[in-house]
Amino acid sequence: MILILFFLCLPVVQYPADGFEKDTPKKTIILVQAEDLTCSMCGEKITGKYLKIDGKFYHTRCFTCSKCNRVIDTAYKIDNGRFFHADCYKELKGLICDHCGQLLDEKWKVFNGKKFHPECFKKSIQPKCAICGLSIVGDYTEDSEGIYHIACYKNKKLPRCDVCQAPIEGKYIEDLWGNISHEYHDGKSYNLCSSCSVIISKRTSKGGYEYSDGRLICGVCRESAVFHMTVVDQLIKSIKMLLKTTGMDSLPEKINVSLVDFDTMKKKSGSDNKNTKGFTKSSVMSIRSLNISSKHDIFILYGLPELEFKGVLAHELMHVWLNDQGISLTQRETEGFCNLGSMLVYQNDQSKLASILLENLARDPDPAYGDGYRWMLNKLEQKGWGDLLNDLKDK
Ligand SMILES: [Zn+2]
Ligand SMILES: [Zn+2]
Ligand SMILES: [Zn+2]
Ligand SMILES: [Zn+2]
Ligand SMILES: [Zn+2]
Ligand SMILES: [Zn+2]
Ligand SMILES: [Zn+2]
Repeated sequence: MILILFFLCLPVVQYPADGFEKDTPKKTIILVQAEDLTCSMCGEKITGKYLKIDGKFYHTRCFTCSKCNRVIDTAYKIDNGRFFHADCYKELKGLICDHCGQLLDEKWKVFNGKKFHPECFKKSIQPKCAICGLSIVGDYTEDSEGIYHIACYKNKKLPRCDVCQAPIEGKYIEDLWGNISHEYHDGKSYNLCSSCSVIISKRTSKGGYEYSDGRLICGVCRESAVFHMTVVDQLIKSIKMLLKTTGMDSLPEKINVSLVDFDTMKKKSGSDNKNTKGFTKSSVMSIRSLNISSKHDIFILYGLPELEFKGVLAHELMHVWLNDQGISLTQRETEGFCNLGSMLVYQNDQSKLASILLENLARDPDPAYGDGYRWMLNKLEQKGWGDLLNDLKDK
């Protein structure tokens, strides 16, 4: 009788839950009579050392790997009653690092459906933030240029509100000056300056003011705002000089200019067009095209920034010129022509405000002030001031 003491001790192989099943061989001490045993693999009698696995007995030489056919003497796996070297089994199951091509160890990373050694993943595969360069673990966001930590993206990639400096996600407001802003701050909607169209805020416009007639004006525009007649008188002189350069040298000596609020403007002009900033009323008595008496009253909103005031004044003075000359045109011709005066003022100024006011003229959709202006501008470019004024006088 042979007593066999066999201590089967195979290393335990562990795989993660998404690998294959854990299969821990039993540590067994078996004391049996060898002559009773046959090998479950070859069917022959077992003498000498043997293996007992899952209640079956094997010659050590018969316990072979179903993949490479070599004897298994270390860790093994069972799959469907077949045995494998642990490594052969991994190969069989595709447990290979998609980066380096080597077998995976006990743990691996799965990314985009592919498996990697944790080190390979970390070094070569794990996405890195295109802003800070560090690995991204967990949530991320992406655009056409790369992928980012959400915080990095918010802080560096998103446009920043010029009003509150915080990043803007989604919809935002942009003014003609290139400022962008959240639509709301503390539940309050944004406001634009009624003169220069800037978004009103401390940072974008040195704050803003509300005039008693409800108009909103930014802090920058208010710095040059026209409130006093002494300033007005000087400006009338300078605009008359400017119009003289075009050939409008016969403007009447006496023209009354008053600064008014919006309600007065509405009453005087008979229009509640929000864009009305100036209005001219002329009464001219003439006999055989000779003026025997004339009276011209210009009304302009108080508190306009000086440049806009000059633009409006030039427009109104050109009404005076037309009226004084007894020239009668269609509304489209009249307003288009008078807007050439505003254009002249803005073209003579290098400021950004001038270019914005000029752009507003050019883009005005109004059939008289916009279309009329573009039509008159075209005429002016063809004829020049001299011929344009003579053509009008001949009407
Ligand atoms: Zn056998
Ligand atoms: Zn094998
Ligand atoms: Zn690898
Ligand atoms: Zn980052
Ligand atoms: Zn903001
Ligand atoms: Zn402004
Ligand atoms: Zn007008």
